[in-house]
Amino acid sequence: MVPLNDLSRAWVAKAPEVREAVNRVLSSGWYVLGPETEAFEAELAAFMGVKHAVGLASGTDALRVAFLAAGCVPESEVVMAANAGGYAAVAAANIGCNLVYADVDPRTLLLTKETIEAVLGDRTRAVVVTHLFGNVADTQAIVDTCRPLGIAVIEDCAQSIGAGDVGRRVGSVGDIAAMSFYPTKNLGAAGDAGAVITDDSRLAAAVRQLRQYGWTDKYRIDRERGWNTRMDELQAAILRIGLPKVDKLTKQRRAIAARYREALAGSQIQVVTGETPDHVAHLAVVRSDRRSALAASLKDAGVATAVHYPVPDHRQNALPRPARLTDLAVTDRAAEEVLSVPCFPEMTAFEVDRVTDALASASRR
Ligand SMILES: *Cc1c(COP(=O)(O)O)cnc(C)c1O
Repeated sequence: MVPLNDLSRAWVAKAPEVREAVNRVLSSGWYVLGPETEAFEAELAAFMGVKHAVGLASGTDALRVAFLAAGCVPESEVVMAANAGGYAAVAAANIGCNLVYADVDPRTLLLTKETIEAVLGDRTRAVVVTHLFGNVADTQAIVDTCRPLGIAVIEDCAQSIGAGDVGRRVGSVGDIAAMSFYPTKNLGAAGDAGAVITDDSRLAAAVRQLRQYGWTDKYRIDRERGWNTRMDELQAAILRIGLPKVDKLTKQRRAIAARYREALAGSQIQVVTGETPDHVAHLAVVRSDRRSALAASLKDAGVATAVHYPVPDHRQNALPRPARLTDLAVTDRAAEEVLSVPCFPEMTAFEVDRVTDALASASRR
């Protein structure tokens, strides 16, 4: 069976440099928010083309503190897509924000300026733009709509590190961006980790307080709703080894996704991944109105699949009801049709061939 992913094959499991870094951190006696985190923050900010990066404990925490730094409080209205796995919704609901969902573009499955404009209200405080599957939303158009209205634009770059034009990577266009280094992400830690990036010194300072109890200095709590969401030094040291490899691994991901696109060109099965040019192929997502038949035929051909994501946010049992009802027809239909197939840099040529052939033969059926 070709697995959807296999993290044990990744460089991180084998690299002597990782063992060296782990030794270095363990023998340093400094384990949380120290020199490794600071160095990673500087390197991440340079890579993303922004002034500030702040290391955190997870991507969900990054979304949560991004909301808070952007001024969201209980009852603030926030707008987001409903097809992005529920992470932003969980983070916003955790603060007590009111959720409003915007529909997505039928081809890219991303928010657009138009779908956002259709749901903005007088009370909207922030919009979350998720660069889903590693595709790139047109954040600039969304910023141009939101900024004059005083609405913050938060980019969710958990699936899209390095995507976008060089010099204008995703995460550098909105006001503030959340990143995740969960092990399956394109830059993965050996555990949970995340970061916020921004060009705005005020927002960066707020996040630095929020990640550590609301402190300005030790034991001085000067900001409300602080929490403990610090990055740990082992993760930072491991991420510093992975960061310079991201662009090369992205090329490999893109090459795999390109094979699938080629095999399915002109067929009934749409490849969502790569519908925007500067994508990073975090997941290879295809779309079919006969999804269960497609999944079954891939399974018979020895190819694992998964659905990202089966339940849109507005249909989740334990997320708050949306503050306003909006038309989410494209989102609902996509949730019935999307299917992820294996796409990770360590796939063998044999495995890529097997997935490509299985997709091609399914598309002829
Ligand atoms: C993984 C993910 C997150 C959450 O990151 P964690 O580090 O797992 O908390 C947020 N948004 C998106 C789009 C993700 O894929």
